[in-house]
Amino acid sequence: MLQNTRSVFIAIISLATTAIACSTRAPSSSTEFGRVTNFTVCSLPNDQGEGSFQGRWATLPVPIVIDRDFYLANTGEQANQIRAAVVEWNTWAQIKGLTAFDIQNNGSSLGAGDAIPVTNDCNQATITNARTDVVGIWKVQAGGDGRNTRTVNGNNCQLLETGVQGKTDWLISNGTIIGASILLNFDGFNSSGTASLDTQSLALHELGHVLGLLHSCNPGSGDTTAAISCDEAPAQFLEAAMFPFLLINQVRRALLQNDYNRINCLY
Ligand SMILES: [Zn+2]
Repeated sequence: MLQNTRSVFIAIISLATTAIACSTRAPSSSTEFGRVTNFTVCSLPNDQGEGSFQGRWATLPVPIVIDRDFYLANTGEQANQIRAAVVEWNTWAQIKGLTAFDIQNNGSSLGAGDAIPVTNDCNQATITNARTDVVGIWKVQAGGDGRNTRTVNGNNCQLLETGVQGKTDWLISNGTIIGASILLNFDGFNSSGTASLDTQSLALHELGHVLGLLHSCNPGSGDTTAAISCDEAPAQFLEAAMFPFLLINQVRRALLQNDYNRINCLY
């Protein structure tokens, strides 16, 4: 399954939001590579560079909330996987005396999470701006408030285009990230009759975007990273959590050396 990524740029008065999409493609020839051996080094090779960053938050932790629907599905297993992805980022941050993410409303089932903001358009920026107090990890589904397909001016549109697994949108002011949202696609994936994606692997990747990382290599088609093309990138870029594609049923639940090398340059 070959899908290209897309990104959009939307200017809002003095603020700007920009979104990045993450999707699937055929397997690469890469092998297991890149286990972390140096946890504190900032090492930014020329073929990734400062242009592989979206920006940084002024302070950590970033407050996040997990969509209530993740707690309600599969006896909370999806929420547990997202929590585990948060733990992986917090394990990195702990080495620097920081906490990366602070989960709000982290209870169980009905008492946990928030409902996705109700919006009537297909712009993720609208959802980001509806909850500027917290970064939501929202579940986009076939129906309900988080419905993927919406009707705008009589025309149907999709929040997440076909083949796009997840998308992160940032709110930026004077070069600093001040807000974000994550949409995970449970309409085109992980619903009845659709392909399975590993929620934890996908959440780990999108949370890296929230912190300010762009992709470890460039998949083409308007992707905003300045990093080298994925077709020419070294193995450590292809194995990173921030590699732009996640295969069906692939498990990539660990941050690898290249992820550490880059995030250590931001915080
Ligand atoms: Zn991505």
